[in-house]
Order: sequence, then C-alpha cells, then structure tokens
Amino acid sequence: MMLAWTTQPGRPLSCDVRNVPEADPADGSVLVETLSIGVCGTDREIITGKYGRAPEGCDYLILGHESLGRVLSAPSSSGLFPGDLVAGVVRRPDPLPCANCAVGEWDMCLNGQYTERGIYRRHGYASERFRIEPEFAVKLAPSLGRIGVLLEPASIVAKAWEQIDRTGLRTHYIPRRVLVAGAGAIGLLAALFGVQRGFEVHVLDRVAVGIKPQLAKKLGAIYHCSTSRKAWPEVDVVIECTGAGQLVVDALKTSGPCGIVCLTGIPSGKREICLRMGGLVLENQVIFGSVNANLRHYRLAADTLALSDTDWLERLITRRLPPDLWRDAFERDPVRNIKSVIQFKP
Ligand code: BGC
Repeated sequence: MMLAWTTQPGRPLSCDVRNVPEADPADGSVLVETLSIGVCGTDREIITGKYGRAPEGCDYLILGHESLGRVLSAPSSSGLFPGDLVAGVVRRPDPLPCANCAVGEWDMCLNGQYTERGIYRRHGYASERFRIEPEFAVKLAPSLGRIGVLLEPASIVAKAWEQIDRTGLRTHYIPRRVLVAGAGAIGLLAALFGVQRGFEVHVLDRVAVGIKPQLAKKLGAIYHCSTSRKAWPEVDVVIECTGAGQLVVDALKTSGPCGIVCLTGIPSGKREICLRMGGLVLENQVIFGSVNANLRHYRLAADTLALSDTDWLERLITRRLPPDLWRDAFERDPVRNIKSVIQFKP
C-alpha cells in the first residue's frame, strides 16, 4: 500500500490522503517515485465536486496532474534510467482514435473520449509512487531539479504561444506587444515566454502589491493592477489566464486590428459572455481557446524552462506542503501566493 491524495469526484468534502494499493502495472512499465505535485484551479474544481471523473469501476480518483518524479525502474529499451527526473503527460489519446489523436495531437481530441491523469477517468500522479508508459514520461534536465514540477503548466503555455504563432500567419504584420491577463502561474509563465520571444509584455492582475508585480517586473514586463480597461495599452496579442468573463470582453477591446485573443483560463460552470460582433469582424480579430498540450509542447516547455532564470522560476512556487497539509494549498492569498506544491519527497 502507499499514501495517495484522493477524492470522490462529484462529492465535495471527500478529498483526503489515504492508503491505496501500489501503482497498477497496467499504467505503464516505468515505476516512478513521486517528488512533488503542483496544484491548480482544476484541482480546486475537482475537490469541490464540480469537475473530474474516477476511473471506470473505482469509487475514487487519485489527484495530481502536475508531476515531478524520479525513475525507480524502467525497461532498458525505454531510454529512461533509475534516477532520471521525469514529468508525466496529462492526457491520453482516445481509443478510436480521432484524426488528431491518431497523430499524437490528443490536446485537440475531436470526440472527448480521451482520458486525463488526475482529472478525468484515470488516476493521477499524487501517490508515493506511480507508473507510466515510457512514451508519456518526459525526461527533464537534471539542472532543473525541483523546478521541473512547473513543466506541465509550462506545456499549457507553450501550446498557447504555438497556436498564437499559427494564427498570426494569416497576416503580414509582426506582433510585438502582448497583454497577459492574470498573474498566476500560467500568466507569469506566459509572460516569461513572451519576453523570451522579444515581445513588449504587459501583465494585468487585481493585486497591486506582493510577489506578482515583483516577479513581472523582474522579467522586464510592465505590470498593471487597474481593472479599468482605459489603463491598458492597445496590444497585438492578449493571453487571458483567469477565466473571468468580463476580462475576456475587455481583452477583445484591448486588442487592435488583426488582434489575437487566446483564452487559457477555464471558467467555472457555464460562464457566458456577450460579444459585440461588429468590432470582431471589422477588425479581423480572432478569439480562440487553448487547452492541454501534446509531447511537442512538453518538449518546447522543457527547453524554455532550461533557458530561464532558475531563481525566478523557483519564486513561482510559493508554498511547499507535506501531503497531509493539502488543504493549505487552496487557501487564497493572492498577494503572497502563486503556486502551491505538495511535496511527497524532500
Ligand atoms: C490541465 C490540462 C487539462 C485541463 C482540462 C488543466 O488544468 O492543465 O492538462 O486538459 O485542465 O481538464
């Protein structure tokens, strides 16, 4: 048996740390010792009973989709060796597979029959040990060390930027100014990627003081705490990382002609927004959503993290908690907290 962070999806208050059987060999030939698990808004949705699903035939779900672990054993053909640092990919392709899953682009699954570790119909990584298929274990540079737990959120950002680049190909201008709405982990990583791409980066958040403006400024980004749209500059690209409806509408108004608005924040429940279509059409603007990531994005993310200032990345992780204190990971403190991590091994 081993300790795991679990919940019963659909049942608020059922989340806890408990003993579960050792990882199932059917989950993959690579055995990994869990070092840490990142916590995000999706976990909050799952433990409050609004999202997520347990695997077929099981009445609980092991949580944890942002992982960092150390390989304990792996088949020699896998290219992985004991001691290697790895992070697990979240999504698995649908069994059919659809046209996108068939070519490894499960992040664009067409029929919704995919599974997601720690979220949807497959156990996650938040147990003392987990098993994984070699092709879904992404090897990390040893120099990344404990920052490797940021790989999964960074993969989400890598995909968003890739999709922005692809959308930008429809015109001949070179976008140079980006507004990132929301200075959580995803927002600040999106700002980091923007700076590395040579963009003038603006970051917008509700809090005026604390770690968020400090980290944005350290990147060389311009930080805005006003929620009044008049204070924001006109930009070529907006990356929305909050899921807040009004911000989405304002983001569109902020983007100029041919502007691109990429939504990455997953709103809770059925959030509706009211758009003025005229502006969208007359200005050739694009608004699109981006979720999840495939292996290409994980590799891009690993390269970007490896090139980044490790001290800055380390400061994104503001709480490291033992598994039994998982509740503290969800305590809201926007001035001091960005990313909470559950530490399975020091
Ligand atoms: C995860 C994604 C996942 C999405 C929807 C996000 O928190 O990072 O990998 O696809 O939730 O379940």
